Amino acid sequence: MTNFDLLVIGGGSGGIAAARRAAQHGAKVCLVEKGRLGGTCVNVGCVPKKIMWNAAVLSEHVTAAAQYGFDVSPGDFDWRGFKSKRDAYVTRLNQVYARNLDVAAIHRVQGAARFVDARTVQVGDQRIEAEHVLIATGGAPKIPDLPGAELGFTSDGFFELETRPKHVAVVGAGYIAVEIAGVLNALGSDVMLLLRREHLLRSFDALLRDTLMEEMSRAGVSIASCIHLAAVEKRPDGTLCLLSSDGTEHPGFDGLLWAIGRSPATPGLGLGSAGVELDAEGYVVVDDFQNTNVERVYAVGDVTGRAQLTPVAIAAGRHLADRLFDGKTDSRLDYDCIPSVVFSHPPIGTVGLTEDEAHELYGMDGVKVYTASFTNMFHALTEHKPRTAMKLVTLGPQEKVIGVHVIGLGADEMIQGFAVAVRMGATKADFDRTVAIHPTAAEELVTMR
Ligand SMILES: Cc1cc2nc3c(=O)[nH]c(=O)nc-3n(C[C@H](O)[C@H](O)[C@H](O)COP(=O)(O)OP(=O)(O)OC[C@H]3O[C@@H](n4cnc5c(N)ncnc54)[C@H](O)[C@@H]3O)c2cc1C
Repeated sequence: MTNFDLLVIGGGSGGIAAARRAAQHGAKVCLVEKGRLGGTCVNVGCVPKKIMWNAAVLSEHVTAAAQYGFDVSPGDFDWRGFKSKRDAYVTRLNQVYARNLDVAAIHRVQGAARFVDARTVQVGDQRIEAEHVLIATGGAPKIPDLPGAELGFTSDGFFELETRPKHVAVVGAGYIAVEIAGVLNALGSDVMLLLRREHLLRSFDALLRDTLMEEMSRAGVSIASCIHLAAVEKRPDGTLCLLSSDGTEHPGFDGLLWAIGRSPATPGLGLGSAGVELDAEGYVVVDDFQNTNVERVYAVGDVTGRAQLTPVAIAAGRHLADRLFDGKTDSRLDYDCIPSVVFSHPPIGTVGLTEDEAHELYGMDGVKVYTASFTNMFHALTEHKPRTAMKLVTLGPQEKVIGVHVIGLGADEMIQGFAVAVRMGATKADFDRTVAIHPTAAEELVTMR
């Protein structure tokens, strides 16, 4: 039995950030990881996803380059060769994470941790005890409970594909469904996106989701709304057929991706032995300071079900370590105004309230909205001309900017700076006083009438 100041369960974004910050403050830290260091983001999330998005964007740019006059044509994409380079990059990152933990003198244990009581966890035949315990176990993709569901793969399985599926069904409406559908479409697959309701990206501003739906359709993704799947069957020719509850068949797929959401990685953790409270969906219940209901047991990141993004898990982990080991008793993450990007085609950048949320919170009268829609000059010479659309949501006579929503080329890199302005409480007049940078798409955000 070894005693530590902090025991972290989970070596993903939140766990590693908390462990390193705590060690920096002089705490004796142990980190338990059952899989690969870096967690979801590094191994089966942000990192491999962004590399795939880069490949997809390059393929679109080769087409655009030909239309600009270069003597090039898209040609074949070497999926297998690309995957092996992408995997090698991820392996290098795993090693960097291990080295960083070693340099910080954090004790690493490989294996699945299970609570024995609120201060002690069991990993294999080891028992580890600590003054403080952090649960940072993240989540896992869901698979629906219907016959034949095992014939599909999740986002984890997507990153294992050695060849590009030619006819893919993507089931889901969230950002992971939209991103993978976009990547596959750009890399040459026939993609059908099946939504359970009418729209994709339901929690996003209507301007973004409507524009994206239109642009995905124009780019060749077939989008089927209000589909209630009942079963999946493998046909004699080896292809998959999706059966809807109304009897409609969607046949002919050689790949099926379930992107219908994620579940918290709490089963098997023995949280009952520690007395840690979970909500109805199995997420660990925490207060604003990441405390669970059990003294000196905390949780950060996806396992808490709040704003499931890497920088959020990292920030929550660091704040917690500052609070516990650096005397910063008020240190906590403010979960308001978290910017995010969807690496769709075209990409989305968003921060703050949507127009609907603003109306719900403040009524119709106090909220004023500005919008713009145009074609980025990049597409002046291209045949395919995806639209750029933007919206500012403002509040009150001061017109405080409480939401910025952008879809279009460059939106992914545009939103971070505007998120700073929104967090600082900028008004529409502040935006207007800022001299535009011409010719860019971003200038539209400071010239809206
Ligand atoms: C396809 C995809 C794309 C994404 N893209 C983005 C993006 O572009 N930007 C963004 O910000 N976020 C993105 N995310 C979300 C992001 O990956 C997560 O929000 C982030 O990884 C959460 O960090 P975490 O520390 O809470 O959990 P994780 O990173 O999931 O880490 C949890 C770790 O705990 C380990 N673990 C679980 N149970 C145990 C146990 N009992 N004992 C020991 N170890 C255990 C797991 O093996 C895992 O390594 C994406 C996610 C997916 C799936």
